[in-house]
Amino acid sequence: MRDSTNEVLRAIATNGPVSRAQLTRDLGLSGPTLTQATRYLFERGLITEIQQSPSTGGRPATLLGLVANAGQVLGVKLADNHAVGICINLQSEILWSFEEPFSSRGEEAIKELISLLKKNTKKVKGQLLGIGIGIPGVVSSNDSGLANSAMLSWNDVNVGKRISKALSTPVLIENDVNTLAIAESLYGHGRDVSNFITITLGRGIGMGLVINGELYAGSHGAGEFGHVNAVNGGVQCECGKFGCLETIASSPAIHKVAVAAGYISKNTSMTKLWDLARKNKKMAKALFEAPSKQLGISVANVINVIGPELVFISGEGVEGWDLWEATFRETLDSHVVSTMSGFDIEVDPWDDTKWALGATAIVLQASLSRNQRVNANVIEVKNRLRIAAKSEVKVS
Ligand SMILES: [Zn+2]
Repeated sequence: MRDSTNEVLRAIATNGPVSRAQLTRDLGLSGPTLTQATRYLFERGLITEIQQSPSTGGRPATLLGLVANAGQVLGVKLADNHAVGICINLQSEILWSFEEPFSSRGEEAIKELISLLKKNTKKVKGQLLGIGIGIPGVVSSNDSGLANSAMLSWNDVNVGKRISKALSTPVLIENDVNTLAIAESLYGHGRDVSNFITITLGRGIGMGLVINGELYAGSHGAGEFGHVNAVNGGVQCECGKFGCLETIASSPAIHKVAVAAGYISKNTSMTKLWDLARKNKKMAKALFEAPSKQLGISVANVINVIGPELVFISGEGVEGWDLWEATFRETLDSHVVSTMSGFDIEVDPWDDTKWALGATAIVLQASLSRNQRVNANVIEVKNRLRIAAKSEVKVS
């Protein structure tokens, strides 16, 4: 009984307002089981009936939707020099957002994050179910929030627990590329496929894997795509190994080559570098041919193993994607085996909000998922959802 209730709640939350008939079809539930599950959710004030007039006229359809303001969730993405946050309701509508400078590292970064969140949680009206945070680094488990991040100088730091304690609020931490993959799977074209990969280009190179509709988390984190080997030997990487993909295809790596070749000075921005390369064929070839080829080979390797239907390419580096595209595509196609060639590529423009939306989704999923491991943070999110639902009923 409880399982089908969660399934129904999840389907309503992720698909938006939906008819009873569609729920029965999609979830393969019997009529009485669906009635029992929806009654339980109505009683707790989590769902409501929504009348929707069909565009073609005729009788309005009665759909089931979440009670939008039964709870709110805060999602934050930490980037190189700023933090972006959004607050959403249970229908994933963005209520408000913020963007603030964020450049501290190590211990200072945790303190700054706590004060930034303290300030912003005060703006939440109603029940805050929890906070999701996407960080550039490896998160060994999102509920305990143990994080390693070269960019933030965090080495096995228990970020989640510390922030959660300081704010007395459930906090779930996730790798930021994974939050983007979650956003694609809930709100983007990832909704329509079971297996896809999200690749991000920029300061680093990341990958989020969604396999059989679920984010693949591995046993030690997953998707350290920037550190697959690209050059035997090669330059030493931030991770300590030699010849990683990041050492030739990340934005800083390309920038370094451009400086060494005398095309730009140290202070030239990547945007300027892309502009210059667009006007100078020789420069574009010198800077982007090798990275594009290597990225093509590395992505082909993953496609041959995973067999995805869709490949998303995103990150702040896609602003210069026109300089990669032709060589990347040609190399990719010549390395993907024919049985795996039925995939699409979608290049997504850089959008911080989408990453933050994914961070809220890890909290929403925790409250709705039937598969989440039992732990104090997730139980607290679920409790808050129940409390929020009750107060919403009283209000209306
Ligand atoms: Zn590396």
